[in-house]
Amino acid sequence: MKITIIGAGIGGLTAGIALLRKGFDVTILEQASELKEIGAGVQLSANATGVLYRLGLGPALEAIASEPIGKRVRLWNTGQIWPLFDLGANSRLAYGYPYFTLHRADLHAALANEVMRLKPDAIKLGVRVTGNVQHAGGVTISAANGAVYESAIAIRADGVHSGTRESQFGPDAPRYSGVMAWRGVIKASDLPERLRAPYGTNWVGPGAHVIQYPLRNGELINFVGAVEGNRWEVESWSERGTHEECLGDFKGWHEDVHTLIKAIDVPYKWVLKVRDPMPVWTKGNVTLLGDACHPTLPFLAQGAGMAIEDGYILARALAMYPDSPATAFASYENARHERTAKVVIGSAANTKRFHNPALADAQGAAEYVEREWNEERVRERYEWLFNYDVDAVAL
Ligand SMILES: Cc1cc2nc3c(=O)[nH]c(=O)nc-3n(C[C@H](O)[C@H](O)[C@H](O)COP(=O)(O)OP(=O)(O)OC[C@H]3O[C@@H](n4cnc5c(N)ncnc54)[C@H](O)[C@@H]3O)c2cc1C
Repeated sequence: MKITIIGAGIGGLTAGIALLRKGFDVTILEQASELKEIGAGVQLSANATGVLYRLGLGPALEAIASEPIGKRVRLWNTGQIWPLFDLGANSRLAYGYPYFTLHRADLHAALANEVMRLKPDAIKLGVRVTGNVQHAGGVTISAANGAVYESAIAIRADGVHSGTRESQFGPDAPRYSGVMAWRGVIKASDLPERLRAPYGTNWVGPGAHVIQYPLRNGELINFVGAVEGNRWEVESWSERGTHEECLGDFKGWHEDVHTLIKAIDVPYKWVLKVRDPMPVWTKGNVTLLGDACHPTLPFLAQGAGMAIEDGYILARALAMYPDSPATAFASYENARHERTAKVVIGSAANTKRFHNPALADAQGAAEYVEREWNEERVRERYEWLFNYDVDAVAL
């Protein structure tokens, strides 16, 4: 079966690999003229790395990932540290697969290389899809450069700003989440030893939080700082800000946070928007995947993980029902709706948890952290995410 995937992002490329391995003839159309990703990190927990290991990408990822030895919570003003959970060896022992933190460009390149190893000319760059027409034999996809692609079915993996989601399902009316975020990458050699430790750290404070974790075997440190407020509007991953502006948003925070901010190469800022989970992802021969159908706030660090799981399960469904894409799409949606909606809702709930007013003073903060991040609560919030087995999901 010929399949066209629109978008060579993390979700589209994973779907491409999974489908090519099952013998489908895949073409991936990407609007960008070169294969690249933004300079930022991404965390992949065992549910996502498990998919990538199953797709044969384990060795490629091990060469480029960081594997934090643990995760911890730190208090915004005193810097007090609470251990959260062990990720390193424990993730492999408890869930069978590692917890990796990766530079997005490295992950993207590993996925693209694997697609091209399986089918050298699968990815078509500089092809901005403008529309699709469905007919009895399949779907005709047209691009801005005049090219036309025919296939039996199409998968739209074109991200949060998916044009076709709007054209097929109507406008998605995103709402402002009340939170803006800063992002940057730091050369680890520019930081004091204590800030280079191989931990994922979640700084929590009233009205804001900061996430830091290592990338590229500890060569780089990823920084994300989320702040409540409403000072800019652009929902873009490439809007530049200044160090002064970013420092201003973390006034009164621990000097370690200021040291991190001062060492960021370029601080980027973006506004976080919320979209409700979509009830339907498929129209005829076309279905959606990843951020195109369930964009989420990044506060469970699962957006890429969900796109990766989608791609694998969609390939399983199509291989199971090759003569009936409609059955395969229904089965895929059925398997994925509840889990992805739970991520969208859980991520939004974490905003309040990370920014709680109880964190304002050290005494209240200690009680709050010990209650919210005790082992049992953390297990409740994360276990269902980490121990998901993509091969065991009923289709
Ligand atoms: C700051 C930040 C931190 C994050 N951290 C994490 C994390 O730690 N862990 C995690 O799991 N997730 C994280 N996420 C979420 C994650 O990055 C996304 O959920 C993930 O990238 C979605 O993948 P996707 O393939 O659906 O979309 P994308 O990666 O956005 O890919 C869409 C692709 O489609 C292409 N495209 C768009 N329109 C067209 C068109 N008309 N024609 C052709 N091509 C088109 C785009 O150019 C792009 O290449 C984070 C997100 C942000 C913003």
